[in-house]
Amino acid sequence: MSDIEEHRKKIEEITLEMIKLLKTRTDIAKQIGDAKANLGMTVTDEEREDELRKQVTKLSKEINLDQSTALKFLNLLLNESVKVQSDGKQTHLSIFLKAKALEEEGKKIIHLEVGEPDFKPPKEVKTALAEVYDKGYGKYGSPKGIIELRKALAAGKNTSNVPTSEENIMICPGARFGVYLAITTLLNPGDEIIVIEPAWPAYKDCALNAGVKVRTIKTTLETEWEPSYEQINNAINENTKMIVANYPNNPTGKMFGKMFDKIINTAEEHDLYVLSDEIYEEYDRRPDKYLSTRSFWDLQYEKTIITKSFSKSHAMTGYRIGYVIAEPSIIEKMSKLQALSLTNVSEPIQYVALQALEADVSGNTEIINSRLEALIKIAKDIGLEFVEPDGAMYLFAKTKYKNFDATKFSEKLLEHGVAIAPGEGFGDYKEFFRITAIDEIRLKEGMTILDSVLKESYE
Ligand code: PMP
Repeated sequence: MSDIEEHRKKIEEITLEMIKLLKTRTDIAKQIGDAKANLGMTVTDEEREDELRKQVTKLSKEINLDQSTALKFLNLLLNESVKVQSDGKQTHLSIFLKAKALEEEGKKIIHLEVGEPDFKPPKEVKTALAEVYDKGYGKYGSPKGIIELRKALAAGKNTSNVPTSEENIMICPGARFGVYLAITTLLNPGDEIIVIEPAWPAYKDCALNAGVKVRTIKTTLETEWEPSYEQINNAINENTKMIVANYPNNPTGKMFGKMFDKIINTAEEHDLYVLSDEIYEEYDRRPDKYLSTRSFWDLQYEKTIITKSFSKSHAMTGYRIGYVIAEPSIIEKMSKLQALSLTNVSEPIQYVALQALEADVSGNTEIINSRLEALIKIAKDIGLEFVEPDGAMYLFAKTKYKNFDATKFSEKLLEHGVAIAPGEGFGDYKEFFRITAIDEIRLKEGMTILDSVLKESYE
């Protein structure tokens, strides 16, 4: 056999071995996922996973294998099982799609599940849409965004922003894409990310998609959705690379006071990125509690990525425009994937967003806050259990009934024409559901139906 033939044979053998390994890995992952689903266990079982981590660490020491590599491999395996079990979970999005299908059949639905303001964008947007063609915007452009918009945002034009430089700003098609870019470009397969639940599902989904292992920290109604210092510390190991903060929070409306300091300090201590999703910044029912991660830049902690958007503040959800604030080196990495995947964000829409910055949107905050007040009052009257939201546009509640299953209840309620978001979409919260603060008349109508379906089903 010639050298070349021998070489080729070796490659074939290795390839075959790898295929076998991969097959075993997928089979095991599927078994773990199926077993968990059959037992009604949650997708992640942190205690069991910690036990596995200990075993793998011990084993890797015995065979002299780099621990971090071994644990990364375990993370990939665990992720496969999470993927298997995550299929079929009901989220606000799946309920929304079912509601839409019912509407197409001619049914009337009150949407208390969607996460978007139900009022129009400011009139400056209409004018900008009319003039953008003649202004000449509409060519290929920089993946970081048009300089006029980046400068305006850097100057703090949007909100109470601490001014920064345009080098720190990248425009993206919605905060969702900013979250995706941050997780996908800054982390590697097998790395870990900490998500404090309940949480908007995309953080977990983006991580899963990128082969990144999610460590969840479960917070409770009883502790007012506040994680403990121990919980955060216990979730950190040598593969942990990022912690996600989303305050005001979707779905609880929680804002952090001192806890925010602790998160940033811990992140700094362990050299972690902080992904701070501040999309609800403008909807602060308790402005005294609000702290943006930007204020920490003064303290020189520079591994912070802030995601922001025009979706909620300017009611521009369908325009798909948001932005990221971070250090230039981080922006650089993220803009490469943005260039690769979409060249640049639509120029005309960037121009429209620039003009939207001229609008006074403080009225939107007042509208949302008064709706939240109305929602809180009705929810109290009908006996729901919740912590009053500090901000955002939702109420995350449960009922007084034992063994209440919010997923089944959401499905039943939909048959009566009201859509709500089941808690299981936000983590291990099967007894909770999220209600969006929409206009008061529709809200009252929806909540009356919710109350009667609840009583009819459980009393
Ligand atoms: N972050 C959070 C916490 C959200 O709730 C949402 C949308 N519901 C987003 C990001 C996505 O926003 P965008 O429309 O800007 O992509």
